[in-house]
Amino acid sequence: MPPPWSLLAVQDPIAYAGNPLDRENLNRRSRDWLEAQERAPESRYLPLWQLMPLLKLGETREIAWARRELFEDLEPRPEPVLLGTRDGVAHFAVDVSAEPKREVGFGVEDVASFEDLRAKVAQIPAADAAIAAQARTLVDWHCRHGHCAVCGGHTRSVLGGGNRICFDCQAEHYPRTDPVAIVVVVRGDRCLLGRGPGWPASMYSALAGFVEAGESLEDAARREVLEEAGVRVGEVRYVRSQPWPFPSSLMLGCVGFAETEEIVVDRAELDDARWFTRDTLREALAGKREDLVVPPPFAIAHHLIRAWVEGGLG
Ligand SMILES: [Zn+2]
Repeated sequence: MPPPWSLLAVQDPIAYAGNPLDRENLNRRSRDWLEAQERAPESRYLPLWQLMPLLKLGETREIAWARRELFEDLEPRPEPVLLGTRDGVAHFAVDVSAEPKREVGFGVEDVASFEDLRAKVAQIPAADAAIAAQARTLVDWHCRHGHCAVCGGHTRSVLGGGNRICFDCQAEHYPRTDPVAIVVVVRGDRCLLGRGPGWPASMYSALAGFVEAGESLEDAARREVLEEAGVRVGEVRYVRSQPWPFPSSLMLGCVGFAETEEIVVDRAELDDARWFTRDTLREALAGKREDLVVPPPFAIAHHLIRAWVEGGLG
């Protein structure tokens, strides 16, 4: 008897989730408290260069936390974003893209490097990956929101980077999170997966799409599957979620129970969609098939597929 899904989720943490920091949403309202955190000698800063976090060299790529001296001479001086605290120590993210020589400019080339988070996530400790995800999303959002979407005026960061306010019209702007429905569609002993244009050879994954205005998660899941693969889905059950910081999505993992089987692929969205049996997917998860590759464990699709194969999704 396989363990129930809730237990699998606890035993099997998902990449980018489980951030250990206290976001300090009450304390960060105090400007004095924020300034004290920025000045505190023990405060830690995660430098990001063009959205790539600084990671220690080695087999395990931990975050290379820095002191504020690292970026104080940069022009223009970057404004740190408070991520939160841990054991009373403040942790910030800071955009250091103004340094043209990357690691060499900071003298850290022998101990650390700026790396693409998605490419290195398998080597990063889980807590550090979650913190880096938060940092990447927030720094990217601040970079893109220097101007007000209401009046076009300049905006400034407030609440330690928790949001931005327009200098001219005082409109408040909050970092956004875009919900994405990601669905493993099942019918009896078969599961529907698709592949998008330009994906790695033989890779198939769960169908996914943004939740649109005025839709529930379940509505979006049914619509996406019908549009992309022509398959009608009845019941949709939410399973688990994953923050996806490229740049700011929240993947909402579901299982959808198909009511029809015939596939009609929308070639604008997908190259192909097919039904796969449990046995085929079990072999693919074990890396034993040359004709079928499923997403790696840092993607929620992997966990959804595996949960269904192991009988945890009904
Ligand atoms: Zn404005």
